[in-house]
Amino acid sequence: MVRVVILGQGYVASVFASGLEKIKAGKLEPYGVPLGDELPIKIRDIEIVGSYDVDASKVGKDLHEIVKTYDPEAPESLRGITVRKGIHLGSLRNLPIKATGLEDEMTLEEAVDHLVEEWKDLKAEVFVNVCTTEAFRPFESREELEKAIAGDDRERLTATQVYAYAIARYARETGGAALVNAIPTLIANDPAFVELARESNMVIFGDDGATGATPLTADVLSHLAQRNRYVLDIAQFNIGGNNDFLALTDRERNRSKEFTKSSVVKDLLGYDAPHYIKPTGFLEPLGDRKFIAMHIEYVSFNGARDEVVITGRINDSPALAGLLVDLTRLGKMALERKAFGTVYEVNAFYMKNPGPKDARNIPRIIAHEKVRSWAGLKPRWL
Ligand code: NAD
Repeated sequence: MVRVVILGQGYVASVFASGLEKIKAGKLEPYGVPLGDELPIKIRDIEIVGSYDVDASKVGKDLHEIVKTYDPEAPESLRGITVRKGIHLGSLRNLPIKATGLEDEMTLEEAVDHLVEEWKDLKAEVFVNVCTTEAFRPFESREELEKAIAGDDRERLTATQVYAYAIARYARETGGAALVNAIPTLIANDPAFVELARESNMVIFGDDGATGATPLTADVLSHLAQRNRYVLDIAQFNIGGNNDFLALTDRERNRSKEFTKSSVVKDLLGYDAPHYIKPTGFLEPLGDRKFIAMHIEYVSFNGARDEVVITGRINDSPALAGLLVDLTRLGKMALERKAFGTVYEVNAFYMKNPGPKDARNIPRIIAHEKVRSWAGLKPRWL
């Protein structure tokens, strides 16, 4: 059994919950789940036991009711879990959503205690962070992080950073817990958190789930690099109509995404080809099925100039939700192996910005074999 707690019951989390229950009921094939049912822990063993949000219209509601707003075919088995109140710290700032958070009535230290007690009741094992993209500053030093919590420094901290701190405390007190950080806030790439995790029986996977255009660009770049073609420039953008894209119209938040996506080019090519890689805009009618476009110019043999142009419409939330079906189980496996801190072999395949800090992006085809080997599975192509 893998006891999962969701942080941020939005589109991704709701598609995850819905698809998971359908697979468990035998109504859906696990397409889009990279390791499908190959792992020793089976998909039917994943159990969502808790969910948190800070949207005042979601807190206190039944999970089934929320999921139904994203997927009209939400399975009945999702009934019976009430969405609880989290910490917002300005997560929904500038969005047309009314926020409510534990820290409205207590200090951050008290909110951490409150969450840890709730998680003990829920017997949580793996936490999945899919909150709204945040504007953040990493900590890098443990002292600075602890000082910010003790000093109730609401300007310095983001919700994700406080959740990660609270999970570390919970893991220390109960023997272990894992955090899958699927959003850009640096946690697996923040040495302060990785050190804290190592000392607290905590596993961190992160940062920022690798879906959509970015891993595809990475694969195309690896293809070109393997043939020693010289890349002149890369233009890649996404336009979407879901709330995540709406949040990204905020400049500070958009910068967080840009940061995680741009590291790919130098890591894979070995040089920094001029590039523009950004989630670029919000267009409501596109909904969750975003428009992606990629254009790469390169030099081939005898100075020939080639161009690759790729366009696509990609359902944004299911792409990440499918990865979460693996990541929750890999989180439990890492706990069983006491692989505390962060696990590069997992991050390199599933994350846009694989931790720890300074770890490189590698071609996904290689990362895929690495994670299989870490999970004890037979190589697929090697
Ligand atoms: P969404 O806006 O539909 O959902 C986010 C949810 O988090 C909302 O319900 C919001 O109220 C809640 N929330 C915000 N702050 C919170 C807090 N402090 N505590 C608890 N809940 C909070 O967005 P989404 O499309 O589900 O995306 C979620 C996250 O996943 C985003 O940060 C996005 O960057 C990341 N992500 C998505 C993809 C993808 O969709 N393919 C890929 C990589 C990363």
